[in-house]
Amino acid sequence: MTLDREHTVAMGEADAPASPTRTVDIGACRCPGRPHSSDTVTLREKVSLPMGLAAVAAMRDIGISGGTIADANGALASVYLHFGIESWSFIEFDERKDPVPVPINAATIDRLLPYGDGGLEVAEACERLYGEEIARPLAKRMQTSSETTPTPKPTSPTIDTGQPLPEPSEPSSPSDSDGTPSEDPAP
Ligand SMILES: [Zn+2]
Repeated sequence: MTLDREHTVAMGEADAPASPTRTVDIGACRCPGRPHSSDTVTLREKVSLPMGLAAVAAMRDIGISGGTIADANGALASVYLHFGIESWSFIEFDERKDPVPVPINAATIDRLLPYGDGGLEVAEACERLYGEEIARPLAKRMQTSSETTPTPKPTSPTIDTGQPLPEPSEPSSPSDSDGTPSEDPAP
């Protein structure tokens, strides 16, 4: 059974010290016939390119629409679950009544991993595995966009004549007049 082989390989790799576990135990088996002691979800080791780009796009959308932190967390959880799962223990029966792994796609993920039944545990494990790596380029991007963008001022050597720029001419008010009409002895 391929699922079991993948499972043991993943468990063996999990012995590496100080690395967050990639295999999440989500409790009692949901599969038909209950063949497992508990169901597990194994996450990808690293942030894949699709996951990273999906996270960037989701954050950009939220930035554009003026979303909240809650919106960002919800979008990230969706990205984590939809892109982070490498394998799982869920099985179903095909038309010949043979047990086959449930295909991993957005629909099956949403159906089999709701918030209250495994989804939260998987999302939290994703956050531990990917959170820092996901946030790094996002933070860098936000920095560069908010800081001064390097716009080199176009130097125009042709105008460099050394002459001072003509000052804007103010309308000169008659400052020497004190208001009283001067006695002008007309001839
Ligand atoms: Zn199961």
